[in-house]
Amino acid sequence: PNFSVADIRKTFLDFFASKAHTVVASSPLVPGNDPTLMFTNSGMVQFKDVFLGTDKRPYVRAASVQACLRAGGKHNDLENVGYTARHHTFFEMLGNWSFGDYFKRESLVWGWELLTEVYKLPKEKLWATVYIDDDEAYDIWTKVIGLPADRVVRIGDNKGAKYASDNFWMMADTGPCGPCSEIFYDHGPHIPGGPPGSPEQDGDRYIEIWNHVFMQFDMQADGSVKNLPAPCVDTGMGLERLAAILQHVHSNYEIDIFDALIKAAARETGVTDLENKSLRVIADHIRATSFLVSDGVIPSNEGRGYVQRRIIRRAIRHGYKLGKKTPFFHKLVPDLVALMGEAYPNLKANENKIIDTLKAEEERFFETLENGMEILDAALAGGQKELPGDVAFKLHDTYGFPLDLSADVCRERDVTVDEAGFNAAMDKQKAAGRAAGKFKMDRALEYAGIGNAFTGYEKLEESARVV
Ligand code: ATP
Ligand code: MG
Ligand code: MG
Ligand code: MG
Repeated sequence: PNFSVADIRKTFLDFFASKAHTVVASSPLVPGNDPTLMFTNSGMVQFKDVFLGTDKRPYVRAASVQACLRAGGKHNDLENVGYTARHHTFFEMLGNWSFGDYFKRESLVWGWELLTEVYKLPKEKLWATVYIDDDEAYDIWTKVIGLPADRVVRIGDNKGAKYASDNFWMMADTGPCGPCSEIFYDHGPHIPGGPPGSPEQDGDRYIEIWNHVFMQFDMQADGSVKNLPAPCVDTGMGLERLAAILQHVHSNYEIDIFDALIKAAARETGVTDLENKSLRVIADHIRATSFLVSDGVIPSNEGRGYVQRRIIRRAIRHGYKLGKKTPFFHKLVPDLVALMGEAYPNLKANENKIIDTLKAEEERFFETLENGMEILDAALAGGQKELPGDVAFKLHDTYGFPLDLSADVCRERDVTVDEAGFNAAMDKQKAAGRAAGKFKMDRALEYAGIGNAFTGYEKLEESARVV
């Protein structure tokens, strides 16, 4: 079968509804119940307190398709966009939960059933990982499900600390945590990358599609663990990664939604090579920035608004690279609304606001972009391998280039940025006391894409890191 993204969403929710799960709507990208968390970066965010036992719901099983953003703080995939086949800033996470109800066996068995019998993924291409000492999950995979043992990989504390592995998920230094089991799909030997747990894993051949977290402990500050009120399940599967498999393509950027968005970006930029990396970046970023506006985040110089500004400006710069010198990005909004407005009515309801917001930001940035690019080019004209910090600072201060945008340009040219020099220039200007009101944003926070109202993010982003 050739599943569209809409089919995949519906099939997932129908499957878990048939297993007595309550279907819950996606919550906003700005978490309503947690002022300390920058963005919703996984499906569990709206259920955080339920795991801890401080909130109760009228159901013990839930499923959702959650809009997620990983573009700020520790859980940040912004730099991966355009470079890997599997990362977006904005993506949709399919998830199911048990709040003290079923546990490992149902979670994995149903997961396998859904993947192989409903979506009909070829069993021989699937791999699983379990936490190193989780014999229970290992036995479920090998004995109950019957996955050959050479495709079930134990991944543990290879980084030294007992709970530092990829397969032991912790909400934070303290709080809910537990071992997890992840499902990978082998896209084939023509793609570079090694199986899970191998040194080459970080390629795009074996792509992680679904994480099942077995929440059972509450980590204490001294590193000891207490049992949660009840063992819980928290799973998350990337919709776009599953779609790539079901639509017989390798990259997330080749699935139906992205195909249409990339064509729209090509139309607006006049580019004909649809594999152009900048088109992928623009297609990714129109989703992130449009959904952010629809959830109330407008560009600004601090906090969430500064992340929004950085994403928009990165997209504009990629358009500039393709030859655009005037606003184009906002013209993709109707294409996006046509593709996703039905699944996300709030996006459709805010269409005009999104267009106006993006257009205003484009008009503003296009005023300085070209001159800034000339300065950047001039600074590297002698074949330098590093962009001087004072130039990066000038670009930031006078031309509206966030540091990560200059770094993005430099990376394309194999050039690094002198961040220490940038910081020194920033400090110098601050100390000089000029433009006092202009530096609302602390530079350390700027790196993290975080405004000073949210100093706790770095930690809390990590804490909300799911699955
Ligand atoms: P990866 O190792 O590939 O970066 P992850 O381990 O960070 O993924 P999880 O935090 O376990 O991902 O999230 C659960 C699922 O969400 C992943 O298995 C994947 O399918 C999906 N996912 C995670 N990050 C992204 C992203 N940036 N873009 C698209 N899908 C994602
Ligand atoms: Mg990741
Ligand atoms: Mg991973
Ligand atoms: Mg994972």
